Amino acid sequence: MIAINKAHFPVTVLGYGTRLGIWTQGCSIGCSGCISKDTWEDKLDSLMPIKELLSWCKKFENENLDGITISGGEPFEQPKALEDFLKKIIKWRETLEKDFDILVYSGFSYDYLQKEFPSILKLLDAVVCEPYNQNLETAYLKGSTNQNIVCLSKLGLKRYDEDALYQNQNSKKIQVAVSNGNVWFIGIPQKGTMQTLEEKCLEKGLVLNDNSWIA
Ligand code: SF4
Repeated sequence: MIAINKAHFPVTVLGYGTRLGIWTQGCSIGCSGCISKDTWEDKLDSLMPIKELLSWCKKFENENLDGITISGGEPFEQPKALEDFLKKIIKWRETLEKDFDILVYSGFSYDYLQKEFPSILKLLDAVVCEPYNQNLETAYLKGSTNQNIVCLSKLGLKRYDEDALYQNQNSKKIQVAVSNGNVWFIGIPQKGTMQTLEEKCLEKGLVLNDNSWIA
């Protein structure tokens, strides 16, 4: 079982191309200014069989699919489930006739991940790590500029090393998705964007409730 906050396809703002997006549930890191506070709490009702999550991924195998992004929450706080899921994704990837990368976000430092989870890192093409720092600016694929994008495979290097990322430096898009009566903002908003959105909606008489950047 793996605790999941949400899953979405297509995700086009968190990694190369068009992707599956999975957000795990549960994070004890507690970065100030985190915009995903709805993912912090461990919730029993968010547990899902890994097989079921894999079946959801497979529904999109005939789509234009460039990879998967796993974010959170803190994916590495469920190391066994994460490793099991990644191994299944890799097995499935072998059947796909396309380049498909695996990108994972973590609020832990790379040193810590290397020390504690080397077997998981081996399964990834790239990892974006370090805790979010609300006092710093955002950058492409990074919530704050202290975060590192570590490439862990040839495909990871091709898609996420500095030269590859340079072309996307100006990409500051966020996506909007509606699911189960909720509106999700996907991606990395610039500093203050969510507060501005809230104010603009309020000016038009629209009150946003249960905001994950406040909750
Ligand atoms: S930014 Fe990520 S690591 Fe930090 S508290 Fe939020 S979910 Fe956890």
